[in-house]
Amino acid sequence: MTDGSESTTERPEVAIITGGGRGIGAATVRRLARARVTAGSGRPLHVIVNYAANAPAAEAVAEEINAMGAVVGATAVQADVSSEPDVERLFAAADAIGPVTLLVNNAAVVFEIGRFVDLDIERLERTWSVNITGAFLCAREAVRRMSTERGGDGGAIVNVSSRAASFGSPNEFIDYAASKGALDTMTTGLATEVAAQGIRVNAVRPGLIDTEIHAAAGQPDRVAALASNVPMQRGGKAAEVANLIVWLLSDEASYMTGALVDVGGGR
Ligand code: NAP
Repeated sequence: MTDGSESTTERPEVAIITGGGRGIGAATVRRLARARVTAGSGRPLHVIVNYAANAPAAEAVAEEINAMGAVVGATAVQADVSSEPDVERLFAAADAIGPVTLLVNNAAVVFEIGRFVDLDIERLERTWSVNITGAFLCAREAVRRMSTERGGDGGAIVNVSSRAASFGSPNEFIDYAASKGALDTMTTGLATEVAAQGIRVNAVRPGLIDTEIHAAAGQPDRVAALASNVPMQRGGKAAEVANLIVWLLSDEASYMTGALVDVGGGR
């Protein structure tokens, strides 16, 4: 596995994907690395595959990337994004490899489907701290490094929000939906604040996507159960969201900032 200590003529630029070991995050890591390999030229890229608890999944994704060729590398790094010391350690791991130019705030939690009246304080605080504070802390660390005002090279941030921010998820998880609303607001504000500092900030808002997150909400068959409510009559694949994220990170999206882009099969 590449750990960044190998000497190369050029230090790689670094992408941090939070929650990159599974689901949409893992698909994003793969798509990002494949795009760089396919381009066949350009600066080497190192991807930090962040995870909270599932080390084997994140390490397997990193190994896949390290087998793709010399232009890309990856390292799995454990860090709870809701913890400031953990986030600082995550970015320090990146600093040791090269300048951070890309961040995807993808990590999030959702709790069991239920009614608003039954929400308890522990659940609310965990939802806010991972889904909101985690994204804020990571974006703050990224801006400190990317901002041209601070000597950085600029960069791009993508926040993984949700269509739930618009629907509000009644009878399911209003707390989760509200946390994604906060992420949309952060995207709008931060994009404006750092637009003249070489940093683009956008959000993707996926609809019903086939990942393990639905099991965490107590409905593992959620995608099949709700597919008929989607105009396209199916759930989306993690790769279909990753394609959008990677495009927003790329220079092809050079005039995009502050956008909240829906990817929900029409829903
Ligand atoms: P997933 O399969 O459950 O994966 C979640 C990832 O987040 C895992 O890699 C997990 O790490 C990581 N994570 C959770 N808490 C963390 C923490 N405190 N610190 C660091 N990492 C943490 O979920 P997914 O469906 O791919 O969701 C990815 C993003 O898409 C989330 O922001 C989610 O809200 C959003 N989204 C998903 C859907 C959908 O239908 N799937 C729809 C709209 C939006 P471990 O592997 O270590 O557990």
